[in-house]
Amino acid sequence: MPRAAAYRIRRRRGEAQYTGALMRKNSTSMAMRPGTVYLVGAGPGDPELLTLRAARLLGEAEVIVYDRLVSAPILELGCSDAQRIHAGKERGNHPVPQDEINQLLIDLARQGKRVLRLKGGDPFVFGRGGEEVEALAGAGIPFEVVPGITAACGVAAYSGIPLTHRDYADSCLFVAGHLKDGGMNLDWASLAHPRRTLVVYMGLLGVATLCRELCAHGLDTATPAAIVQRGTTPEQRTLVGTLATLPQLVLDAELQPPTLIIVGDVVRLQARLGWYEPPAAR
Ligand code: SAH
Repeated sequence: MPRAAAYRIRRRRGEAQYTGALMRKNSTSMAMRPGTVYLVGAGPGDPELLTLRAARLLGEAEVIVYDRLVSAPILELGCSDAQRIHAGKERGNHPVPQDEINQLLIDLARQGKRVLRLKGGDPFVFGRGGEEVEALAGAGIPFEVVPGITAACGVAAYSGIPLTHRDYADSCLFVAGHLKDGGMNLDWASLAHPRRTLVVYMGLLGVATLCRELCAHGLDTATPAAIVQRGTTPEQRTLVGTLATLPQLVLDAELQPPTLIIVGDVVRLQARLGWYEPPAAR
């Protein structure tokens, strides 16, 4: 057997032993408790980016209440007989109201179920996880929170954009860019800093407003800007331009959600550091 292949197998065995040992070590203290809700981050899409804790809970849950952003390969890791409830499903054109989701979690826990509330990325980053645990705490339901890799970190890694490379940025800001009454309610003066990286969640529809306002508040129109579609999945696509060109690039590309926008000089590194080739593109 070639040395490289033998090494790969030894490494894989080593990893499996390591994971198994971790799971066994924690098996009594960390096992899922009935009547408890586990609010768990599923990461940005690639199942390999789940935490060990998330993977273990997926295998133990009796009910999995999941969001639109949780990818199909991750849901498949759940027990085959676990009940799966899609809480992101739209009724007519309206998403399931948050208080109905809160009530569902409370009811399932009161039935004594082991409930996994699975959310895309990290549950406390633009995920309304805060509201869900507030409701659980208010109803006296025990809960745990398991962090996940938020889209900003997953997308940055898989598209080759180091968010705080010290040659280009001193800080990084995550903002929600959804449109409200046709505009974006953001503190533009604090966003438009030359050495600050901006990561904009939910910004696809507002990309033209975003780029225009950042320039109006002092950023150079030549500031590099990228948009990444479905980061860390086989459908990942990265478009790189500037604040002047990004809106038109987006119009031409017909991107599929979810997408994430990154603005700042760190985006220059993408051309050199982008390493991830989605299987479809190979
Ligand atoms: N809790 C999630 C964010 C929920 S808000 C997290 O921590 O990642 C939903 C937004 O997240 C989307 O509109 C998009 O901007 C971003 N997002 C989530 N997954 C993404 C992905 N795989 N690629 C690009 N953007 C993503």
